[in-house]
Amino acid sequence: MNSLTHPRLSTVIPVYNEEEGLQALFDRLYPALDHVASQYALPYELVFINDGSKDRSAAMLAMQYEKRPDVTRVVLFANNFGQHMAIMAGFEYARGEYIITLDADLQNPPEEIGKIVRQLEEGHDYVGTIRENRQDSWFRKTASRAMNRLRDKLTRITMTDQGCMMRGYHRRIIDLVRQCEEANTFIPALAYTFANNPIEITVKHEERFAGESKYSLYQLIRLNFDLVTGFSVMPLQLFSILGMLLAGAAGSLFLLLLIRRFVLGAEVEGVFTLFALTFFLIGVMLFGLGLLGEYIGRIYQQVRQRPRYMVSAVLEQSKS
Ligand code: UDP
Ligand code: MG
Repeated sequence: MNSLTHPRLSTVIPVYNEEEGLQALFDRLYPALDHVASQYALPYELVFINDGSKDRSAAMLAMQYEKRPDVTRVVLFANNFGQHMAIMAGFEYARGEYIITLDADLQNPPEEIGKIVRQLEEGHDYVGTIRENRQDSWFRKTASRAMNRLRDKLTRITMTDQGCMMRGYHRRIIDLVRQCEEANTFIPALAYTFANNPIEITVKHEERFAGESKYSLYQLIRLNFDLVTGFSVMPLQLFSILGMLLAGAAGSLFLLLLIRRFVLGAEVEGVFTLFALTFFLIGVMLFGLGLLGEYIGRIYQQVRQRPRYMVSAVLEQSKS
């Protein structure tokens, strides 16, 4: 009997154009998991998802599968559907009781998996992580700190470090996550909403081993919108309150001007102040409209009910 028939620990790894770093990942990941497996008597499996890479990543994953078919499964996407959809697909194929997600770029050292497993063994169903000495650009760090704070206020999700994807989940939570047919989602936050006994631990963080970040600034903004709109309608509610406040202020200004008209007679000064105010308010209105659009766009994607991803092939041993 090989361990893949009854894996208890599944590690899910999305891969998108990572050819330069994959070999280094394999070289560290398999020994690290062998170690954890023997320490905790947990047979493991690895589920790689190739998210429509345009380089040799898929071929390299296939080669690795040939080398270790006993513990490796590879899901090949027909196209690029994004990191979170890749992880969703990984969840569908993962069979372990404990499920760990990990990036393919070696920013989170595979040697830290043991720490997460220990917490899962102790009964925590959600193991969040905080990156120790985060190795990213100054801009990324500052922007994500600001986003963390905003998200904390807007949603009821407590995550010290939302950007770290190396996390552990119990199967119970993953089964619930899989029931959510969300077209746009942010997996750590979604999983957190189902957790009974969450915990956060610190893990090491390294610079990307090779290649570049797959997220452009634009995609990071989109991702953060997914996170906020997916878990809170507070931005919309804040907008209606802002609208009320502005209407109140404008009403008082009108009254003031009316009184001045009678007391001081006709005045023409202040025309430019009025322009500035108007443009400011137009800006606020456009932002509100855009915000509404963010929600409506997501509702539209959701109601179309298109498949969220398309799997072209799965490399795995027959289950006999
Ligand atoms: N990734 C993916 N699909 C994408 C973008 C990224 O599967 O469309 C994978 C990527 O291969 C990596 C992980 O998601 O394993 C995180 O990506 P990256 O390291 O570029 O993000 P960052 O660390 O800069 O946030
Ligand atoms: Mg990375």
